[in-house]
Amino acid sequence: MLVILHPNIDENSAAFQTTWTHLENLPRIRIQKHEVQGRQQKLTEIYLIGDTKRLSLEAIAALPAVERVVRISEEYRILGRHQDEQRAIGFDYNGIHFDQDTLVIFAGLCAVDTKEHVEAMLRALRENGQTCTRMGAYKPRTNPYSFQGHGKGCLPYVFELAGKYGIKVIAIEVTHENHLEEIDQCLAQAGEPTGVMMQIGTRNTQNFELLKAIGRQKKYPVLLKRGFGISLAESLNAAEYLASEGNSNVVFCLRGMKNSFAEPHRNMVDFSHVPVVKRLTRMPVCIDPSHSVGSRDRAPDGILDIFHTTAQGVIAGANMILVDFHPEPAKALVDGPQALLLEELPLFLADIDIARQAYLQRLQLSKKGA
Ligand code: PEP
Ligand code: MN
Repeated sequence: MLVILHPNIDENSAAFQTTWTHLENLPRIRIQKHEVQGRQQKLTEIYLIGDTKRLSLEAIAALPAVERVVRISEEYRILGRHQDEQRAIGFDYNGIHFDQDTLVIFAGLCAVDTKEHVEAMLRALRENGQTCTRMGAYKPRTNPYSFQGHGKGCLPYVFELAGKYGIKVIAIEVTHENHLEEIDQCLAQAGEPTGVMMQIGTRNTQNFELLKAIGRQKKYPVLLKRGFGISLAESLNAAEYLASEGNSNVVFCLRGMKNSFAEPHRNMVDFSHVPVVKRLTRMPVCIDPSHSVGSRDRAPDGILDIFHTTAQGVIAGANMILVDFHPEPAKALVDGPQALLLEELPLFLADIDIARQAYLQRLQLSKKGA
């Protein structure tokens, strides 16, 4: 059961204390508080966990601090929808808004290799009006002898250059909770010139201790990749781990499923699940066409497979795109074969715009039909 308190409730008020004491003393019920800081107000939600069937919804709704009570029948207690369309969806971070209606593009390097490549990438983004990017510093590699990423060594110049080129949010994968501290320290030392979205990769989707550690902090939003070989429900539960620890500013990323039938693509593209994730949860949905397709192959119509799959995700309502670019793919230390070229960025953005307009038209059409 979900108990939503009046917005901006003061925890020292008599109304809050009476309500909290009442809920705390309900037999065989555990309570968990979750706070959501919106643009204008702070929302406090209390989750009642346990034998809630015999509780009276009306009696709880009558408590002084309570605005509404919602019976939760489905999974994903915090991130789910529960037929409750009134609860806010999405969040703001460093001037960028993420929700299930917007579309934000994170084009950038799969892995940071040289400062020059970072600068060339960021310059191209600025020239094309982009304010978000991806920059891998900690790379989880299949082979222990492969390049593992520059780690914290590259963060000072990445952050400094991000500030110089007006980047607001950088998606950076973290594979250990220490990376969170390193990023936090480097950002502070650089004077917080940009923001970071903590990316949890597909190899760590069910690394529960990492999820808990990243979920315990609320400063940085999280981009959680779908696990490549587990069910959608298992991946959504992984997202719920982040929320249950306190951080519900989570974007869920579809990146394809490992499956031999996916060949010649690297993974089986799963962007038809964009509307499914939106229906099951309140998370904005990201697509990663680069790690799904894994190559620069082109269809006979002349369009790259990466462009085609991106359009498929966008026309289905995707809210974020994470995509690999590189100024010199032949010199890239990770995933060069799937990188788009900086010269292709304007074309890529224009192609996305066509698919986005088509999605918006489909929305209008569906509203007319409803
Ligand atoms: C990445 O985005 O750099 C990455 C490693 O992706 P994934 O975790 O989806 O393989
Ligand atoms: Mn990669």
